Amino acid sequence: MLERFFPSEYTDSIRQINYRKLYDEGYRGILFDIDNTLVPYDMEHPNQEIIDLFEDIKKIGFKIALVSNNNKIRVTTFNEKLKVFAVHKALKPMTRNLKRAMQAIKTNKKNTVLVGDQIFTDIYGGNRIKIKTILVVPIAEKEEWITKIKRNTEKKIIKAYLKRVKKNESKH
Ligand SMILES: [Mg+2]
Repeated sequence: MLERFFPSEYTDSIRQINYRKLYDEGYRGILFDIDNTLVPYDMEHPNQEIIDLFEDIKKIGFKIALVSNNNKIRVTTFNEKLKVFAVHKALKPMTRNLKRAMQAIKTNKKNTVLVGDQIFTDIYGGNRIKIKTILVVPIAEKEEWITKIKRNTEKKIIKAYLKRVKKNESKH
């Protein structure tokens, strides 16, 4: 029952993701959430680290899209320097804009990865269309009250997920 909220992978941050390995496994597109995944949600522009990371990822051969539930100003301002395909007000976990982003970067369900910090929007959305999902630890905890409430529930799911991973590992 909780499985639909489980990510394919869970990692500390976007820096810990092995993009080369993902490429070798056949993945070609990455859909990034912005707030608390790439930068804290009050950071208007990407820092140099993000700009460099995006360049590196593109050099490997990936297409990148930003898929954010935040508003137009937030997303277009953040994307000014990055210049990737970007969706604002994506309404994740609804899947329509995830599909739209994949269409725009010409990837599909089999070769696209979604990276985000929220289980009920990012991970659940990605799972609904059956793409690979990577959950990262949120960058900043300075968040809206509604997100704070969700975090507690998310912690419970992560605990169940890690328990499952451990159980599966001991089987091998
Ligand atoms: Mg987020």
